[in-house]
Amino acid sequence: MTVFEYDGRLLVVDCGVLFPEDHHPGVDLILPDFDAIRDRLDAVEALVLTHGHEDHIGAVPYLLRERRDIPLVGSQLTLALLGSKLREHRIEKPMQAIVSEGDRVSFGPFDLEFVAVNHSIPDALAVAIRTPAGMVLHTGDFKMDQLPLDRRITDLRAFARLGEEGVDLFLTDSTNAEVPGFTTAEKDIAPVLDRVFHASDQRIIVACFASHVHRVQQVLDAAVTHGRKVAYVGRSMVRNMGIARDLGYLHVPPGTLVDAKELGNLPPERTVMISTGSQGEPMSALSRIAQRTHNFVSIVPGDTVVLASSLIPGNENSVFRVINGLTRLGAEVVHKSNALVHVSGHASAGELLYCYNIVRPRNVMPVHGEIRHMVANADLARAAGVPDENVVIAEDGVVVDLVEGRAQVTGKVDCGYVFVDGASIGDVSETSLKDRRILGEEGFVSVIVVVDSTSGKVISGPEIQARGFAEDEARFDDIRPGIVDALTKAVSEGTTDNYQLQQVIRRVVGRWVGNRLRRRPMIVPVVLEA
Ligand SMILES: [Zn+2]
Repeated sequence: MTVFEYDGRLLVVDCGVLFPEDHHPGVDLILPDFDAIRDRLDAVEALVLTHGHEDHIGAVPYLLRERRDIPLVGSQLTLALLGSKLREHRIEKPMQAIVSEGDRVSFGPFDLEFVAVNHSIPDALAVAIRTPAGMVLHTGDFKMDQLPLDRRITDLRAFARLGEEGVDLFLTDSTNAEVPGFTTAEKDIAPVLDRVFHASDQRIIVACFASHVHRVQQVLDAAVTHGRKVAYVGRSMVRNMGIARDLGYLHVPPGTLVDAKELGNLPPERTVMISTGSQGEPMSALSRIAQRTHNFVSIVPGDTVVLASSLIPGNENSVFRVINGLTRLGAEVVHKSNALVHVSGHASAGELLYCYNIVRPRNVMPVHGEIRHMVANADLARAAGVPDENVVIAEDGVVVDLVEGRAQVTGKVDCGYVFVDGASIGDVSETSLKDRRILGEEGFVSVIVVVDSTSGKVISGPEIQARGFAEDEARFDDIRPGIVDALTKAVSEGTTDNYQLQQVIRRVVGRWVGNRLRRRPMIVPVVLEA
């Protein structure tokens, strides 16, 4: 999520989610922190969505909860995918403006021009933002596949024209800035899929992202060539491919699609399933198939499973668990490490250099990527001749001013991650996650002591219970007298405050558990007065 401000008015570009990793136990989604603009939502002129990926549109329902009538601006497919997401959040008929490449529209002081870019989802747009302060060109996510399935290439002619006019600040996708050369064309997967289909005389399952329309198109095409019927498995796959087909982005020959449940009535060698779960998501169809818990699909030796997808960092263990599960059942598993069944959606270093040379921007701000990707992208900008002082690295929350043709970091707003956990948004803090990690890795000890409120003498307990380790209470027999001694000493020295007495217990138990059991569990001391 990027916020542009001119003359007190705001323009937001993209509003996506992050998916939780292992160190976010229990978290469903991670939202951008709206705090910095929460009091100024009335000043938002529009929310521009560059494309329909979750990390660009996933948090829109949460922003609209705070102001329902923010105008949404995006391409036809982007807004259609967002619309189905909004309906799931019971947000009907949002304010929206469908735009396409070449369109020029104004929202308040922001004059927007849209430029076609090629990415791993159709209908992606870059946006040029003109204000009296200068022109910003934001690529969104993009690559420069020269022969994409839809023939809609990244419009370098428009990039050049904007460059001639003068791009004051160029925001570019950093994801693959560390990867030398050029990103492989989507079409190069086709012969590999063809070989896989040719070699198989049993069931084929292909897993990929539910938004990758062109990948699904290539699987459909291979299925038609090899005389197989296709079924979608997974709710988001069924929904998104329905939208893509209705809007003309996906071409499904008549008679190709069947309902997943009907697939069992056909000979396996006449079928293909296109499924979700390429990232090893535990509840997905593919994971359940790998664990033999899917209600109507079971793998038999000789079946083929293709993971036509990237391996998002952090998902390695889950993905390899699925691959192992399928392999154990006798499936042949084809994935990006053993065949060219996936290409990236992002521009590699060679493409980024082309862009810098064509646009010749005054200032560059790498976006979309971790810090290492942004730094690598900044190096490319410098290598292409952008002066060092005109390259700004801005992590989350950093404020960049563009004044008289010069971009500079001028401040920072507070912004952290906002965690969605079940029905709660933002209630789970980094501290709660730290507690969850301690509970998960080290376990839990409770210590309950009853003290006489006048004498301070321990009259009952300590009662000690541990979970996750040392669950036999007798393990703590050695430390009980130590707790009583420490409390007696603290009281004799004048400590009567309940919290301080609990801290005494925490210290004594923590030290003992650390030394004796080599653990650092969560310790919850309770002192009751009687
Ligand atoms: Zn994307």
